[in-house]
Amino acid sequence: MRQGEACGSQTLLDKRESSLRKNSMEVEALHAVSAQPRNNWTKEEISTIYHAPLLELIFTAAKVHRHWHDPLSVQQCTLLSIKTGGCSEDCAYCPQSARYDTGLKAEKLLDPDAVYAAAMCAKNAGSTRFCMGAAWREARENAQFEQVLEIVRRVKSLDMEVCVTLGMLGADEARRLKEAGVTAYNHNLDTGEEYYDQIITTRTYQDRLDTIQHVRDAGMSVCCGGIVGLGESEKDRIDLLHTLSTMSEHPESVPVNALVRVDGTPLADRPPVEIWEMLRMIATARIVMPRARVRLSAGRLQMNQTEQALCFLAGASSIFTGEKLLTTGNPGYDEDKQMFQLLGLRSLELEENN
Ligand code: SF4
Repeated sequence: MRQGEACGSQTLLDKRESSLRKNSMEVEALHAVSAQPRNNWTKEEISTIYHAPLLELIFTAAKVHRHWHDPLSVQQCTLLSIKTGGCSEDCAYCPQSARYDTGLKAEKLLDPDAVYAAAMCAKNAGSTRFCMGAAWREARENAQFEQVLEIVRRVKSLDMEVCVTLGMLGADEARRLKEAGVTAYNHNLDTGEEYYDQIITTRTYQDRLDTIQHVRDAGMSVCCGGIVGLGESEKDRIDLLHTLSTMSEHPESVPVNALVRVDGTPLADRPPVEIWEMLRMIATARIVMPRARVRLSAGRLQMNQTEQALCFLAGASSIFTGEKLLTTGNPGYDEDKQMFQLLGLRSLELEENN
């Protein structure tokens, strides 16, 4: 190698090293000033964090995670579909939309006894939060809604956190759900506002934000996150994280899902989600919303245990357990129990959460 070449490579290396150090310090600095959760993040700040060198990003997220949470305590939640299929909405990822031929049969709302039995089984397997989803455009005050309220009361009697996701929600329905014992209402924003209409056209981003406001006003906690792999850009992911992290109060719960590609849906041919994308999303969510429970949600069936371990290191503090996540596959209870033993994780007890 000639002298000049060596010097040229050295200069390049110096530049690279200084840019890495700068980036790393920027992430550190942002973390250091964040003694309390901030809700004045700029998109530029979130972008700097999201694009930090991956190992620096995970390391910083792990530090934030340890500051706010016990990193060995992971909440197990179980998600049951209580009213499957036949939904009028057009969410492009969803096998439950009546608009797509996915082979899924529409079913009636489950009766309270059946749901109670499933919740009991989940509790015995270590779940402390029982989430129930109905494939509806919105919750309306009718006989089915009354049945949902009865289901909520029954599940609540098991001393579990109760979460429901029933579509859009008005102020009155939100109040009645809270009175029946609902802990949290899930309503995901799915993606950034600019990309949103590529995925859903039957309700607006503002409709979603209005539902979230009704949930907050009724005193339920907000569970709100998104999906990686819909064809969105990194900018769209940063937009989503910006919307979530600049809410007046951060969501208590932030599910991060990897798209589960289902034949018959418009997104069936999307490329699989890379683990690196999930890690960036989880770690950035952990840093900008340090108190939130970041939930490693759909897509775990496609991840091995090493990949899931990295997600926990990056700040994920919850998983969904049980063989089904609404209508798609999920690792079973035994598999997760074995993973927890392997990684030295414990299932969160509710007292820890208070
Ligand atoms: S509203 Fe829910 S159930 Fe209906 S299509 Fe969208 S994601 Fe699926």
